[in-house]
Amino acid sequence: MAKREMRKSLKWDIDNLFKSPETAEAEFQQAIKRRKLDDSTSSTPPRVRSDPRDALKPKLLLHLTRLGDGHRLDCENLANLIHYCIFGSKSIQKPRWATISQHRYLLQTLVVRVNVEDNFFATTNLKFLNEFFDRHWLELGADISDRRLFWNSLMNVRLDLKEQIKRKTDRMQKTFDLLGKFDRSHFVLTTEQMAERNFPFPGEEGIVATKMRYKKITHSSPLYSVDCEMCETTHANRELTRISLIDEKQNTILDTFVKPRGDITDYVTRYSGITAKMMEGVTTTLEDVQRAIQNLLPPDAILVGHSLEHDLSAMKMTHPFCLDVCHSLNYTNNVFENRNSLKSLTEMFLGEQIQTEYGHCSYEDAWAALRLAQLKIQEGIVFGVASYGWKYSQYREEQKLKNGDGEILKSTQNSTVAPIPCTGCLGPTVVGCTVVNCRCRFVAGPAQCVSCCVRNLVSEEGDFDWRETLEVDLEMERVTSPIENYVKKDKMKSVLMGFEAPEVLEKMPEMGRKIHLKLPSSFPTYSSFIDNVASEMLNDSAIFIEIDRKKVEPLPRSSPEDDEGEVVDNSEALNEILEKLVAATTKNAAIMMIFSSPSKNTLFKNIK
Ligand SMILES: [Zn+2]
Ligand SMILES: [Zn+2]
Repeated sequence: MAKREMRKSLKWDIDNLFKSPETAEAEFQQAIKRRKLDDSTSSTPPRVRSDPRDALKPKLLLHLTRLGDGHRLDCENLANLIHYCIFGSKSIQKPRWATISQHRYLLQTLVVRVNVEDNFFATTNLKFLNEFFDRHWLELGADISDRRLFWNSLMNVRLDLKEQIKRKTDRMQKTFDLLGKFDRSHFVLTTEQMAERNFPFPGEEGIVATKMRYKKITHSSPLYSVDCEMCETTHANRELTRISLIDEKQNTILDTFVKPRGDITDYVTRYSGITAKMMEGVTTTLEDVQRAIQNLLPPDAILVGHSLEHDLSAMKMTHPFCLDVCHSLNYTNNVFENRNSLKSLTEMFLGEQIQTEYGHCSYEDAWAALRLAQLKIQEGIVFGVASYGWKYSQYREEQKLKNGDGEILKSTQNSTVAPIPCTGCLGPTVVGCTVVNCRCRFVAGPAQCVSCCVRNLVSEEGDFDWRETLEVDLEMERVTSPIENYVKKDKMKSVLMGFEAPEVLEKMPEMGRKIHLKLPSSFPTYSSFIDNVASEMLNDSAIFIEIDRKKVEPLPRSSPEDDEGEVVDNSEALNEILEKLVAATTKNAAIMMIFSSPSKNTLFKNIK
């Protein structure tokens, strides 16, 4: 039901977004009329509306204390906020001090910069400003007064962490050096490789680090292998429903079902091995699992897995030392395009079967990844990678000579181990596995259940903060990319520039359907410029406009008998311009108005 409503609302928004200029113009005129009508009937009490879309209205929250005491948003901050409004947190680095809920319903961002004189607010009262923004205003940093800096900041988007890392391969060497370069670390993914593969990184929204502080890895840093099972839920496409973590001795350290936030809509049992019956009465949450893992892992743990970025994304966790067997082993030539499945790697290199018709158990997947990682460390960098010149046929021959048959590294356990109850609460410590003769029954289980791990264990911390080592690198240079690159990536995005761009921009963007320009100076009057922008802006996701208060023509005077010598007041006209622009935006548009004078800058912000 909720889903259907959401879809309906989205369709409504999209229909609105793609209205032709003619219908947009008609809509705009109607909006103006409605607005006037509202004003004239303001004495009647407001109607109570139960529009379901109101619940989906985006909200913009600023947590300015996170910027530090007395800190004001400067040009870079403000641009970051505006880009967050336009592109959302998926494509850009979201500011830590701002949150937009229901961002996907925020379809348009209108930014109006009004250049005013220093005593503007002391002498001018804009009715519309007070009404529309209520008290949603804040003072900005002094550098906003520099309009060149302002527009150049807006037209260049700060690269997100992953993007910056990708572009700075050589510089990442410094971080890599800090992380250590001994035996096992050769097999650990570099930060750059992790960025390329879209691993979660510290500081990303909703991502929790496995440690506050890590320790440099050494030849004796322990391996821990992890595998997650996911189900489809109403909350997310893939949500964590089971996780197995095992140590180097193949013993289970943690094995639990996890109650997803949303209701499960598809158990994808064929892949997850999870059924509705298994999930009955499960109360362990993702947060419990995260805390247990923080307590269980040592600060120099090397996390092992197959396509680990999927597991870490499901766990909503980040970890700096990752050994991914699908990166370390690839017997087909195409290392980066084509991953070998865990099942085929296990058959190929271990001569063992997993994920058989008997069912699927996450312990077995974690076990297989661990064995593959151990084999790789034992055999070296070139081993198992066809693109490095390694040949399977040759390897197979060598193995036959060594062992007399084709069996490689068979597992050794042969008696089942009865599960021992939790030493803390006597509850179960592992998941009741349903796979016939599953390997998980032949190994020792954890001493404590998840909640006892959270309650009784204390996280062992190392000596450096991973995030800091990444950020030190980032501060070296402010890396940005022209906004056009971001706009081109998303077919829903386009920018309308309504300011003297050639005069202020260091580099003009390439004009076209995605970015277009309306020069205020090319219109006979300011009001014709505003009318033109307002009639066409419905099609654009971002509208950047600059208005010089001095140049705004006053409204035609109604009382011609006024004193001849008096300075003509244009505040009514300015008021009307701002009102017109806001009226022309779509529903749920983010409206940012920046009043900039040489010594004072003020931001008015609201969601329409
Ligand atoms: Zn317990
Ligand atoms: Zn099992």
